[in-house]
Amino acid sequence: MDTILGHATRSVKLLNEWLAENGCPEYAELYQSAGERYGVRWDIAIFQSTHETAYWTFRGDVPESHNNFSGIGATGGGNPGEKFNTPKAGILAQIQHLAEYAGVDVPEAETVAERTRYVDDWIRGTAKYWKDLTGRWATDMQYWQKIQGHMRKFDKWAAERLADEAGYWVDIFKSGNAFLMKGSLAVDMVATGLLVDKISVIKDYFGTRAATFTVAPHDKPEPTIIAPEPEPITDSLLVDPEATFHAKDVWIDWAEDFPRMYTKYKYPKGYTEGAIVHHTAGGDIVGSLQYLSRVGFPCLGNSRQGVVYQPFPLSEGGPHCGSWHHRRMVGIESAGWGKLVKIGNKFYAWPKKDGRYLYEVPEHRVRHIPKQDGNRQPGYYEMFTDVQEKSLLKVILWCKVNAPDIFSIDNVLGHDEVTPANKNDPGGSLSMNMADFRALVEQEYQKLKAAQ
Ligand SMILES: [Zn+2]
Repeated sequence: MDTILGHATRSVKLLNEWLAENGCPEYAELYQSAGERYGVRWDIAIFQSTHETAYWTFRGDVPESHNNFSGIGATGGGNPGEKFNTPKAGILAQIQHLAEYAGVDVPEAETVAERTRYVDDWIRGTAKYWKDLTGRWATDMQYWQKIQGHMRKFDKWAAERLADEAGYWVDIFKSGNAFLMKGSLAVDMVATGLLVDKISVIKDYFGTRAATFTVAPHDKPEPTIIAPEPEPITDSLLVDPEATFHAKDVWIDWAEDFPRMYTKYKYPKGYTEGAIVHHTAGGDIVGSLQYLSRVGFPCLGNSRQGVVYQPFPLSEGGPHCGSWHHRRMVGIESAGWGKLVKIGNKFYAWPKKDGRYLYEVPEHRVRHIPKQDGNRQPGYYEMFTDVQEKSLLKVILWCKVNAPDIFSIDNVLGHDEVTPANKNDPGGSLSMNMADFRALVEQEYQKLKAAQ
C-alpha cells in the first residue's frame, strides 16, 4: 500500500522525460527537493499533479498562472483556490499539505499555503496512505484510483523505456511482469530475483537507492552487433602504409560542395570502412551541418530533397557517434526531426520555447513504430523522404563501388546500433530496420556489379 511518507522510487531524470513527453514542464527536481525536505513521496505527488492539472492543461477551476498544481483551496463551484508566486512555491505548498495529512507538523513560519495554516490541526495525521486522501483532499471518490492510473502509465512507460535503453533488457523486462504490477521498479526487480549486471543503468535511472542493492552478474551475454573494439589507434599508426588503397577518389563527384569541415582522424586504411547512418534531429540540413562544423562533429549531409553535401574527403573524419567507429567510418546525417512527441492526435519535434513545442510535423510525415523492430525503438518518427532515402542508398553504394576492398556493407550501421543506450537515430526515420537496409545495399551492389 502506498504511503504518503517515504522514499521515492522513481528518478528525476525519467520523470522529467515522461513529463516532457506529455507536454508538462520538467519540474521533477522541484518535487524532489520539497519532498525530501518533509519526507513525502514526491514522485507520487507528481502523479497527483498530472491528475489535478490534467497534464498541465488546467481544464478545471485553477488557472495555470496560479502555480497551484494540486488544487489547494479550490473547493469547487468555480473557486480558483490559492495562488502561488512561482512553481517552486506551489510545489512546496503541495508537499507541505501532504506532509500535514500524513502527520508531519510543518512549522508555521515555513508554511506556504493559507489553507494549510488554516486546516493543519484538523487534517494532521488523518491520511497515512494515499488512498486515504479520497474524500478528503478531493470529494471525488475515484481520486486515488485516478492518481494511480497516471502512476501505472508512467511505470509501464518507464519499463519499456528502460528496456529500450539496453537491447537485451527487453527479454528480462518482459519476463518480469510481477514487478510491473507492483509498480516500484528497482525494488521489485530485485524482489523477483532478476540478477543484473547493468548497475550503471539502474543507478542512473533510480538514483542512489539502487546502489545499495546486491547485484550479481547474469549469464546472458551482450549481443554482438559488430566486431569487438580493435586495439587503440595511436597517431603514428593512423595511416597504414601497407593498406591496399585503390579508391578512385575521396570526393564524391556528384555531391554538393560545403565549406570544409575540421577533421580529427585520418582513417587507418586511407578510406572509410563503412558508414554510420544518422538523422539530424534538426531542421534544414545546411543549418545542421553548420552546427556540426562548429562543434567539431564532421559528417556528410543529406537533405529532405535528397541533396548530398560533402564537407571533407572520405579519407578522414572526426567524432560523430560516441564510439570507436568514427575513427574508421564516415557519418551520414540525413535531415529529420527523428523521434516525435505525440499529444492528442498531433506530433511535435523536440524543440520547445516557453513550455510549448515549436514545430508540428504533419501526420502524413510521421511513421509509427509500435514495437521494437531490430534497431528501431518504438515511437513516432519523422520519416525520411523517398528521395532522401534513395540518396542515402546512392551515397553508400558510391562509397562501396569506389573502394570495394575497404568499404564493407556489414559496416553500414545505425547510430542506434552503435550506441543503442542513448540514441534512436535513424530508428523509425528510415523505412526499414538497419539489417534490412544492409540487405538492400548488398542486393543493389550485386546488381551494379552484374551490370559492369
Ligand atoms: Zn546520430
